[in-house]
Amino acid sequence: MSGAASESWIPSTRADSGRGFGLDHLPIGSFAAEGRGRRLGIRIGDEVLDLSRAEEAGLFSSLGEHERMTLREPVLNALLALGSHAWSRVWDRTRELLSAPCGTLREHPDRGSIMLPVWGVSMRVPAHIGDYTDFYASLHHATNVGSMFRPDNPLLPNWKHVPIGYHGRGSSIVPTGTPVRRPSGQRKPPDATEPLFGPSQSMDHELELGFLVGPGNAQGQPLTMDEASQRIFGVMLVNDWSARDIQAWEYQPLGPFLAKNFATSVAGWVTPISALNAAKRPGPPRSAGDPAPMPYLSSPSDWGLDIDVQVWIQSALMREKGMAAVQLSSGNYGDMFWTPSQMLAHHASGGCNMQPGDLFASGTISGPTKGSRGCMLELTWRGAEPMALPDGTERKFLLDGDEVTLRGSAPGCAGGRLSLGECTGRIEPACAANG
Ligand code: MN
Repeated sequence: MSGAASESWIPSTRADSGRGFGLDHLPIGSFAAEGRGRRLGIRIGDEVLDLSRAEEAGLFSSLGEHERMTLREPVLNALLALGSHAWSRVWDRTRELLSAPCGTLREHPDRGSIMLPVWGVSMRVPAHIGDYTDFYASLHHATNVGSMFRPDNPLLPNWKHVPIGYHGRGSSIVPTGTPVRRPSGQRKPPDATEPLFGPSQSMDHELELGFLVGPGNAQGQPLTMDEASQRIFGVMLVNDWSARDIQAWEYQPLGPFLAKNFATSVAGWVTPISALNAAKRPGPPRSAGDPAPMPYLSSPSDWGLDIDVQVWIQSALMREKGMAAVQLSSGNYGDMFWTPSQMLAHHASGGCNMQPGDLFASGTISGPTKGSRGCMLELTWRGAEPMALPDGTERKFLLDGDEVTLRGSAPGCAGGRLSLGECTGRIEPACAANG
């Protein structure tokens, strides 16, 4: 990655600041700020480069017109459609602008309007997400959940052969910081003879990574593993909120539906895959006795990602008492059985046309230890082992007022660590009419 070794002139990017948003990262997102409508920005340290203003100021004139126009869009889709060569040109030019010791941006008369403090912007969903698919790629998560619901047969016979997923809902994807209303729905408590309708009693988070698709494929035209790898633009933290009681009652025989489609939170900042070269690991990880992936899911150059991920929680009472959020769990994306390229190649393998801005998420990221379980269902073993919070209360599932924050970090190309953009959401009480 060119320019990664040089330093930016932005003070908050100095190596000792430890914020994880240096020149070797440059995540992109869609934001709004006072006096300016929704637009794209690239984060550097504690500042945001307004791509629309920068383009208008002629700072990207070295790019082709088609590429420049995508920088004036409010969402990422047009840029995503251009593919990896165009993405490299945008990021190479951005690094030039932010690293040149003296030059066009640093001395620009409108610099104060082209660069904004990050606390002055409000993040939106980064792309218009037409379709969202959620996979189930963690062996540990699938085995844990399977053992709760099917103790004799935890891992179904297809699981190590086919990346399991379900089609989620694009319309209810919300950006980090958006409150999440507890859903009401049909559930059937274990001791009840009839199902009932009302607020979910087992709200859960799911710690996941989501991948934004770049150029699409024509319908009927599958993607090879290497094509899939080239078309993954970037990664962001995703919370696939889940109502476990609704899920348990509705999921057979067609899979999750209303238990998951009421809200999915995504981070505001998308880390480009090109910034994760130092985090790439040979993939997929397999144990002795596991089936080899089928040819359409195999590539000698396939990769997984060494990304540390964490879940933090702060209850309403903790906020009231001035207590900081505490960590609920931490894991690593490298523990996943299916890689991002395998998920995308599989998605298109039957001829499904993927489109720029489609989102596919990994499924709950759980590791082999109890502390690395990525949802409450596993952490409390379906409520059998409640977790204590520092405010003196305990949790089987999430309560109203609980704020869940997902964090992540990965090795960067310049030797330090990159911070993934946070993904946070607070549970609000169910709609009064359904209470
Ligand atoms: Mn999920």
